[in-house]
Amino acid sequence: MRQITNHLPTAELQALDAAHHMHPFTTNEALARKGARIITRASGVYLTDSEGASIIDGMAGLWCVNIGYGRKELAQAAARQIEELPYYNTFFQTSHVPAIALAARIADLAPGDLNHVFFASSGSEANDTNIRLVRHYWALKGQPERSVIIARKNGYHGSTIGGASLGGMVPMHQQGNLPIPGIVHIDQPYWYLEGGDMTPEDFGLARARALEEKILEIGADRVGAFIAEPVQGAGGVIIPPASYWPEIQRIVDKYGILLIADEVITGFGRTGAWFGSQTFGIRPHIMTIAKGLSSGYAPIGGSIVCDEVAAVIASDEFNHGYTYSGHPVAAAVALENLRIMEDEGVVEHVRDVAHPHLAARWHALADHPLVGETTLVGMMGSLALTPVKGRRARFAGEQGAAGLITRERCFANNVIMRHVYDRMIIAPPLVMTPDEIDILIDRATKALDEAYAQLKAEGMLVAQ
Ligand SMILES: *Cc1c(COP(=O)(O)O)cnc(C)c1O
Repeated sequence: MRQITNHLPTAELQALDAAHHMHPFTTNEALARKGARIITRASGVYLTDSEGASIIDGMAGLWCVNIGYGRKELAQAAARQIEELPYYNTFFQTSHVPAIALAARIADLAPGDLNHVFFASSGSEANDTNIRLVRHYWALKGQPERSVIIARKNGYHGSTIGGASLGGMVPMHQQGNLPIPGIVHIDQPYWYLEGGDMTPEDFGLARARALEEKILEIGADRVGAFIAEPVQGAGGVIIPPASYWPEIQRIVDKYGILLIADEVITGFGRTGAWFGSQTFGIRPHIMTIAKGLSSGYAPIGGSIVCDEVAAVIASDEFNHGYTYSGHPVAAAVALENLRIMEDEGVVEHVRDVAHPHLAARWHALADHPLVGETTLVGMMGSLALTPVKGRRARFAGEQGAAGLITRERCFANNVIMRHVYDRMIIAPPLVMTPDEIDILIDRATKALDEAYAQLKAEGMLVAQ
């Protein structure tokens, strides 16, 4: 068996990748013809590919590498834990130090009485846990019929059957008979494309009241929970109007419904506070966490559960768990990540340094001829590509074609920005410095210039 290393020629790695590796969320046949870009190493906020190009990472991997790449302390924490105790389970009346210490640390950081953690290895798994937690909670309270969970169209909650069902991604539901029964979706608070002539404030209220209408339609005694991301991430970094979350909170309080805040992206500093729920003033009963918990250095996620729900669940055996719930190596890495976040003041850096600088540069892009709006909270932002300035118009052609062209120009200019249909999104490492932010925005601007020229040349700047 030949060793496969970073030093093989790119074409050979691409051929092996195409022959044997099935990529997530990818048309593999098309990728095989083109060849994947192969990332070989990374340091700080830069990736290096197999051709030696240095790429600035405007997406922190997949919204996760919040403290940047190459932190040796995390490698050492993992190595130490592997030597001491690489694995043990927490099923059969046993526990271990990394899981105990991490649960206590998370309880300390989380707001209110969110004091209990059920571990998973990913955000998807944690949301599967949440479905079972909510339904078991209501069953134990003598209300098993409260099993319906309300979620949102264009929300993202993961890719397992449960996570994808909670999510409101039509292309995911179309494959494999989703959602599973008992999960229903309401419209999203996406003012730019769906707000029509309403003010953002009125629209935010209307979209929140869709929750109340859905509860009354189903029957309040049948609804167990509402799940939402404080800011929709994969849906396109959609920041709700200021009127939205207070109204949602009023409604879940009124009907006694559990509120699940999916903080997989917004947790651990992304919005300029430890949790997005703090930024938006909401009081969830359960929070989903993953991604930034370990800055992506190890796969770990979980559900942070409030006192009341945890007490009810504690009264019975909860027939649920994962082999790797609270995995000691992942937990040790997460603990070290949180230590760095705290000791280096990463959340304060976002609030006081990185966000203000990024905000000035990002919002200036609103003057670009291809940009219809810019939005940003903390270190997550998006911009709408527009065929016609000032009209919040969709492109006439296939939705997402302009976004794809723009993303290609980003790749060519060694900057990672992602596209969601015709929105471009960024979520850079939280530790990014003002100088690095300048490089990110300069390259993004060049990519937008090139995309605009190309769209113009191809006659694609036409509104629907
Ligand atoms: C990424 C994500 C998930 C899924 O997490 P995985 O670790 O990919 O399973 C769930 N919810 C939100 C909001 C996410 O962004």
